[in-house]
Amino acid sequence: MLSEDDISRHCHARTLQRARSIAASDRNILTKQVRYNPPETTLSAFVASSSGWNDRYRTSVTFDEDEGDLVDYACTCPAYREYDGMCKHCVALALTYLDAPEKFMGYRAHRAPTTSSCLLELMAVSYTHLTLPTNREVEVSVVAGFLKKKKKERITDKQEKKNREQIWI
Ligand SMILES: [Zn+2]
Repeated sequence: MLSEDDISRHCHARTLQRARSIAASDRNILTKQVRYNPPETTLSAFVASSSGWNDRYRTSVTFDEDEGDLVDYACTCPAYREYDGMCKHCVALALTYLDAPEKFMGYRAHRAPTTSSCLLELMAVSYTHLTLPTNREVEVSVVAGFLKKKKKERITDKQEKKNREQIWI
């Protein structure tokens, strides 16, 4: 789990201070959402600008639940573009989650361990091919065939994405 110590390593002490005051009011952080893609957890929200203008920034923070470490963060505010490290909006978003994760849309208290879709597919393939007593060569060939198929799919996906992008340009 992420801790305040982990966050403080990615920002200045003053940023942390300011973030605390932003996080102190529920009205400052709107449409809080959390998405789980184990082991990564991504938070996103609109965070109010403290400049006095009725403005808000799109902010997101991704961290590794198992390692308790930050993976990525982003914000549309000027400070994020200008300086290294987390801006106060990113920090405020992370602090809010540490304080009250249940207030985030999509929050699940007890997350069942999930198996990646790729691994599930491989397991399904293995069950169909490897029900009889087999030898190592057969096992290896099934796995190798599966990986080859996945690689081909990835290449096709990439090509399709490229084609789509070209249409938009
Ligand atoms: Zn920001």
